[in-house]
Amino acid sequence: MILAVTMNPSVDISYPLAEFKLDDVNRVEQVRKTAGGKGLNVARVIRQMDEDVLATGVLGGTLGDYIIQELSKTEIANDFLKINQESRNCIAILHDGQQTEILESGPTLTEENGAAFVKKYQELLSGVSIVTISGSLPKGLEPGYYRQLVENGREQGIPVIVDTSGEALRQVLVHRVKPFAIKPNLTELSQLLGQEVEPGIDSLQQALSDELFQGIEWIMISLGSEGAFVKHRADFYRVTIPAIEVVNPVGSGDATVAGLAAALKRNLPVVDVLKTAMTTGMLNTMEAGTGSINYANFSRLFEMVQITKINS
Ligand code: ADP
Repeated sequence: MILAVTMNPSVDISYPLAEFKLDDVNRVEQVRKTAGGKGLNVARVIRQMDEDVLATGVLGGTLGDYIIQELSKTEIANDFLKINQESRNCIAILHDGQQTEILESGPTLTEENGAAFVKKYQELLSGVSIVTISGSLPKGLEPGYYRQLVENGREQGIPVIVDTSGEALRQVLVHRVKPFAIKPNLTELSQLLGQEVEPGIDSLQQALSDELFQGIEWIMISLGSEGAFVKHRADFYRVTIPAIEVVNPVGSGDATVAGLAAALKRNLPVVDVLKTAMTTGMLNTMEAGTGSINYANFSRLFEMVQITKINS
């Protein structure tokens, strides 16, 4: 069982409009509402890969109930901490080939909420073999909050994959107990190191040799259509992918994390772990839904991913 954590899930609403009229009435016919948040994307893709997954995190109110309903409809097992505040809506207005987003920040958690979730998480750990933690922290929790979750996983010998950014990620990396894997994209990597990292092999290899990354088993830098650059223990790999027809790339990073988690759960060899993570990322870009793959196309793409080990 893989445990997928989302601390600030949302109801994602998409409003497709032929034209977006500012300061006027816009009527929408095809509204799409889904259970959103990076960790829920991860859970969905793991489920689509036919692996057991349990979605957890914090939610509340009628929107929280809606998220649970949606997860149950798609047969994603879930066990969230319920709070008295309402979960958030995130709105994407698709217009004129563009996407305008309106993102609520969501509830402000109390210290008690934070402690109650840690307790729930510790209980859930007993039945899982891998954990994924995705997305930003809700307001009210201190930026180092994820450290505790990583540490609890490590205490029980459970690998924890962390996919977050900014201060929340930095806090996890400077902690004594390291996450098992991280998957920043190039922008997040540059932000972390406080300098622009170029996508070339030398520059990436140098960046990942920074002491901030010491002790982390897997560091996967996803590079969109360019594939990924990966450090596994002392080895570096360049992963290249075929050109594909992209429908919607949103959530590809989450699908990549899902593939990584599933591959680790399956105890695959290093090369196959990398290929699996890239394939699920690519499959996500080929679907209209965010954080969703068609697993039937997995093998065909998997064979087209190429791995080059870099001599260090
Ligand atoms: P994030 O969503 O975290 O920014 P990326 O954009 O790097 O992550 O995408 C993650 C993975 O999804 C990539 O490594 C790749 O496998 C796949 N992917 C993303 N965008 C494309 C694209 N335009 N063409 C092909 N594959 C893509």
